[in-house]
Amino acid sequence: MKVCKFGGSSVADASQIKKVKAILDCDKERTIVVVSAPGKRFSGDEKVTDMLLSCAEMVQKGISSKDKFEEVKNRYRDIAEGLGLGRDAIDGDLEIVYKKIESGAGRDYAASRGEHLNAKLISKYLGWNYIETEECIVIGENNKIDSESYSNLASLIENGKKYVIPGFYGRSPSGEVRCFSRGGSDITGAIAARAVMADIYENWTDVSGVYSSDPRFVKSAHVIPALSYKMVRELSEVGASVFHEEAIAPVVEVNIPINIRNTNCPEDAGTIIGKEPEEKGVVGVSAKGGLSKIYVRKLMFFKESGIRHKILSLMHIYGIKPCYTLYGCDSISWYFETKQIENIDTDEMCSRIQSEFSLDEIELKKGFAVVGLVGKGVEETMEYVDALDELRKNNIEPSSVSLGGSYTTFVIGVPEERKLDAVNCISERLFIK
Ligand code: ASP
Repeated sequence: MKVCKFGGSSVADASQIKKVKAILDCDKERTIVVVSAPGKRFSGDEKVTDMLLSCAEMVQKGISSKDKFEEVKNRYRDIAEGLGLGRDAIDGDLEIVYKKIESGAGRDYAASRGEHLNAKLISKYLGWNYIETEECIVIGENNKIDSESYSNLASLIENGKKYVIPGFYGRSPSGEVRCFSRGGSDITGAIAARAVMADIYENWTDVSGVYSSDPRFVKSAHVIPALSYKMVRELSEVGASVFHEEAIAPVVEVNIPINIRNTNCPEDAGTIIGKEPEEKGVVGVSAKGGLSKIYVRKLMFFKESGIRHKILSLMHIYGIKPCYTLYGCDSISWYFETKQIENIDTDEMCSRIQSEFSLDEIELKKGFAVVGLVGKGVEETMEYVDALDELRKNNIEPSSVSLGGSYTTFVIGVPEERKLDAVNCISERLFIK
């Protein structure tokens, strides 16, 4: 059995949904479909989820969402008409949703209706059964999936029948509609795959798999045929937008492979996640910008037990949660997202940390990015030497390097403004042989 999740661009309009049907029709193992809300049809278009969130915001401010909801309504009506179901095929559901949003049902309710209405429409078009995720998927605080979700969902699925499931939402333990974070239909797909112990979780999107680097900026970018779960996790940590990072957990525990496929090029094999690549070596290079670095130094720093923990606790109070740590002899550098210090007085924070811990030095600098080289056995293949050589040739000065914190990623700090140059030149060097 295959669980197929189709993302927003794959279900953005009737012509895309017809492609979905063609994909489903050519493999009888594809019996469970998870869908997103209609996404962008062209660049500059608005996602239905964003339109619904605007409706909720208007109502919260005491303004009627009538006109904005009319736009939402037209998106679905166009789809219904284009699928040959009749323009009013989903008007009854649209009316219910509009009334509830107007009565102040809130953000999660409004956002969830994008998937709810699309799944209803698609189930009508395919003639498949609809499953309401409010009845079975339980989402705790911070996106936490309650384990009863798997058995709840499995109990609604009968062998030999076909189902359409809305992605992105379920209910809170107390019963209100609750959404995952943005892009969360990937998580619903993973829950469905786990619930039925699918042979494979196909994640259909608008690219032909996971790329070695961002193909918009890197000429040498190519699709990676196979990646381990760990590599995907580490690639997204260094900025690659592969797949919702929280969608790995439900399938990794039970070893269900994920196949990233392209709805617009279904003949492409895509990327299989869950299988170690056979050969060692870097398979992906990605970068994440928007980082700052705080450097602290004190003679005999580490002789004082618990000092790291105490400094971190104080930084947490200011909202700083480091994502990379580097240790020196008597010093530590922490990288963190610059947006975490947007609204704080950093001079005041640094003087407080310095005086509370009698530090010899403290320095906070903005404008960094980290480039990650991800692959199997990166510490053995020494490709990082080539990467550093390439940075030198291109006059890109590393602010830090880290090998050994992970056996899968080699991390290089670079100036933010050279982030793309760094990814580009390293990719050229490593991938064009
Ligand atoms: N529709 C939601 C979003 O735009 C969830 C998803 O597409 O996965 O984030």
